[in-house]
Amino acid sequence: MKLELRGITKRFGTFAANEDVDLVVESGQVHTLLGENGAGKSTLMNVLFGLYDPTEGEILLDDEPVAFAGPGEAMRAGIGMVHQHFMLVPVFTVAENVALGDEYTKAAGVLDLEATRSRIREISDQYGFHVDPDAIVEDLPVGVQQRVEIIKALVRDARILILDEPTAVLTPQETDELLNIIRQLRADGTAIVFISHKLREVKAISDTITVLRRGRVVGTADPSAEASELAALMVGRDVVLNRQKT
Ligand code: ADP
Ligand code: MG
Ligand code: MG
Repeated sequence: MKLELRGITKRFGTFAANEDVDLVVESGQVHTLLGENGAGKSTLMNVLFGLYDPTEGEILLDDEPVAFAGPGEAMRAGIGMVHQHFMLVPVFTVAENVALGDEYTKAAGVLDLEATRSRIREISDQYGFHVDPDAIVEDLPVGVQQRVEIIKALVRDARILILDEPTAVLTPQETDELLNIIRQLRADGTAIVFISHKLREVKAISDTITVLRRGRVVGTADPSAEASELAALMVGRDVVLNRQKT
């Protein structure tokens, strides 16, 4: 699968959260969106997921233009999104959360609970999630709750998985476990959009890096680039140089 965003601009009133953004994401690749808070990463992914209409630009799936009226349509096209803030019901089991979905995933329909329990077991074994479908969500460590969010997308057959700052509240060990899961999904042909501003993990997991600053693509980088180079792209070279002086 190949996903292409072409010339995406998203304005809120006169403010452009995204300006003429191009991005290509392919199966079996981790494409990182790197950018500081407010750079426009989530807005771009919300456009892709059908939550916002782009002001300008187009989305192509396997070279065919598509337009998603909402997350339900995006999911039916194979796009899954894990938002930065978990959308789980703490007192429900994992399987109940996955089957019911959240305010976005439910647009693709509620799933059969028994079938979902078996699917969770399959996915858990296949990718090393170590998630018990009958566990109560609030009893689980944050790192496992994060995996439940990913499972919510996988049971709905996501082939393009957007992970919006998935490590924001994880411990370093939970982060490493998540990176391993991402590697397995990639090996299985999933296309992954990984959003982060943590350079260590970005260097560890990315195949390609697109850097956004103030809504615009300011560069692409190779994961072997020095962290200082990535930082300079992300926040602006003058800012990095000034920081180094102090
Ligand atoms: P990031 O995910 O990179 O931190 P966002 O995409 O959330 O950045 O936000 C980019 C910019 O767009 C920010 O300045 C934010 O305040 C603004 N923004 C995001 N959503 C809206 C909205 N619904 N209305 C107005 N401004 C918004
Ligand atoms: Mg353009
Ligand atoms: Mg964001």
